[in-house]
Amino acid sequence: METAPTKYPTAALIDGQWITSSRSFAVINPATGAEIAQVPNLGAKETLAAIDAASRALPAWSAKTAKDRAIILKRWFDLVTADTEHLAQLMTAEQGKPLTESRGEVAYGASFIEWFAEEGKRAYGRTIPTTVASRRYITIKQPIGVVAAIAPWNFPIAMITRKVAPALAAGCTIVVKPAEDTPLCALAIAKLALDAGVPPGVFNVVTTMDAPVVGKVLTDDSRVRKLTFTGSTAVGKALYRQCADTVKKLTLELGGNAPLVIFDDANLGQAVAGAMASKYRNAGQTCVCANRILVQAGIYDRFAAALVEAVAKLHVAPGTDARCTIGPLINSDAIAKVETLTADAVGKGAKVLIGGAPNPTGPLFYQPTVLGGITRDMDIVREEIFGPVAALMRFETEAEAVALANDTPFGLAAYLFSQNLSRAWRVAEKLDAGMIGVNDGIFSNEVVPFGGVKESGLGREGAAEGLEEYLETKFICLGAIDA
Ligand code: ADP
Repeated sequence: METAPTKYPTAALIDGQWITSSRSFAVINPATGAEIAQVPNLGAKETLAAIDAASRALPAWSAKTAKDRAIILKRWFDLVTADTEHLAQLMTAEQGKPLTESRGEVAYGASFIEWFAEEGKRAYGRTIPTTVASRRYITIKQPIGVVAAIAPWNFPIAMITRKVAPALAAGCTIVVKPAEDTPLCALAIAKLALDAGVPPGVFNVVTTMDAPVVGKVLTDDSRVRKLTFTGSTAVGKALYRQCADTVKKLTLELGGNAPLVIFDDANLGQAVAGAMASKYRNAGQTCVCANRILVQAGIYDRFAAALVEAVAKLHVAPGTDARCTIGPLINSDAIAKVETLTADAVGKGAKVLIGGAPNPTGPLFYQPTVLGGITRDMDIVREEIFGPVAALMRFETEAEAVALANDTPFGLAAYLFSQNLSRAWRVAEKLDAGMIGVNDGIFSNEVVPFGGVKESGLGREGAAEGLEEYLETKFICLGAIDA
């Protein structure tokens, strides 16, 4: 076992208590394969206890003023920000991303806490002009109640704060199930929330290897009024079904198959920079990573050459290496997927322009790769790659590009590069996606709504929309008002 990279608890958090268990599971450093901690493998009983705690904590937390909740949340933001370096090291140890990206994620994750602390004060209702002289119509916003959150491993802090911060700001309490690969960051930020003054039971963290068991308890319990999930489409659909019986409100951030469209009239430098940022960040393991790079025939060869030149400069190494720009993938399944998709594409005629093989740094490292000549019969066009492999597809006309881009059941992010404003606007309107980057490869932040259409999910996170997800609208009719 490597030296524990965390000064924070490795126990789960229920009702303000750090819970250990005789059953535990290992957290592995993907760069070295070494075990870095053991955390409790909790089950149905503890999940129920967490829901009990969140239910008990709800009345007092929701009764606080938004301003009082904001004071606590801002303290939490300050504590997270002040400990950026330790949290970044911890994130790189359990998730693998380069340290510079981990530092960026701590700031990105913290930004949701700060932003929702303030936005909670603006949960405005409305007064509605009456239709009857003796009545007045008012709406108020109220917290939806106990929330369950199931989080992924690719952004171990930000995907949790993006859920917990608006929930708490709205006056909800929450039970979080972090991903089994990255529980340590979740526990660290939960400890900082307690230190900031978040009361016991308001924010609970249930660690487990038995996600289906914990998920079932969370979805079956009628006291849980909302589920927010980020993860794969298959699991999201199962959870959607499981929530039907108790008619929970849902936010689902599911898979993507982002098209990145480069037109002949693009600025080549911007297109390459955008493709690099969108494709290779977090070693390609984000749901908004460019999955299909569609390049118009007139710029295809120049773009492919420039992209290969930029990819050649990437540095594969453990995330702790200061030169690292591509860390390990999360686990052996991720490596197997990238290898299978690459082999399928090459078998059907794709050309490896650079990379195309594992990297000798360790079993979970893969060479940043560019594949040219991708065609629609290849699996890589339909499946989420989630690795550092760029798939270039050639097209001729704008109409063809739009049709190709939309030819997927997913609709999370899409990107387009063009210097023609009319074209950029026209195509942005036609792309079926919840988020469009025009001449930009990374755009997510706390002030804008993140989310998808079609099978990429329901609801939005971040921005005013992200607070609304944790609120119910109550209509009050004041009757019998004398003239
Ligand atoms: P990925 O393939 O990227 O790991 P998953 O959808 O499997 O995506 O995981 C996202 C989150 O969903 C993780 O926290 C995981 O533990 C959880 N999860 C996986 N299967 C289930 C399930 N059946 N019920 C509830 N949560 C689940």
